[in-house]
Amino acid sequence: MARKVPEAQFALIGGSGTNSISFPEDVGDSRVEVVESDLIFETPFGESPPMKLIQLDAADGKRRALTCLMHGWRRGIKRANASLQIYWVFHQAGVRKILADGGVGSFDIELEPRTIVLPTDYIDMTIRKDIYVLGTHLLVMRNPVCRSLHPALLTSTSRQFERVVGGGTYLCTEGPQFESAAEIRAFSHFGAQVVGQSMCPEVILARDIGACYARLDIVVNYAEGVVEAWSHEELSNIFVDESPRIGQALLETFATAPLDEYCECRDLRKPTLLREGSTSRLQPA
Ligand SMILES: [Zn+2]
Repeated sequence: MARKVPEAQFALIGGSGTNSISFPEDVGDSRVEVVESDLIFETPFGESPPMKLIQLDAADGKRRALTCLMHGWRRGIKRANASLQIYWVFHQAGVRKILADGGVGSFDIELEPRTIVLPTDYIDMTIRKDIYVLGTHLLVMRNPVCRSLHPALLTSTSRQFERVVGGGTYLCTEGPQFESAAEIRAFSHFGAQVVGQSMCPEVILARDIGACYARLDIVVNYAEGVVEAWSHEELSNIFVDESPRIGQALLETFATAPLDEYCECRDLRKPTLLREGSTSRLQPA
């Protein structure tokens, strides 16, 4: 029998930033309890990755979150399908707030490795198009990152790290390979500050299911060709060194982010103008 999805207000999508630790256990936050591990759900997009259900007592009551590793990516599963699986589960759980972490390359010489960036906009250069869990709304992608959740994440992150940039544009590539120097030269004219592989379609699917989204990314290298070649050793050192503090920033936000403060995220999904079978985004109902 298919496993029932438990209720949770939050989802914490683990990325490169927390991949080198067992999250949340290795963060050592005594407020956080792991209720269940290895939760795998049947979804219309295939079996979900293993998730954990965690909880803590917040000032306004018990909070629960579903967590998964590395965006649910697994060998042999297309990344877009992994995103659809986890977002289908989040929707079933009634998730309202989604936090994600990741590692990014920097286009900007002044944005050094180990700087934390909380992007507030994106450029989607992935080839994963026409992806949705619900597809019931026209998604306005103005202010794609929640204007209530982002400041809460920024406050928690600034307690853990000195170099934190609370905004910027994330250029998302398909991956899993890194970009070529020629690609980075071309992309450097687009006006993004960092490049990574996970903000899309996550940020779009969050709006699709009516949830708020915010993320933090650690700069792990300069994008190819920005400075001299980066070292793989330094990249893995950054992940190992910084993971516990990234995890702590996420848990602190889980504990303290306002749940009911007004934000416009839900107002930015509008009734769809598309009719079943129509092909134009402008065709009226
Ligand atoms: Zn919001």
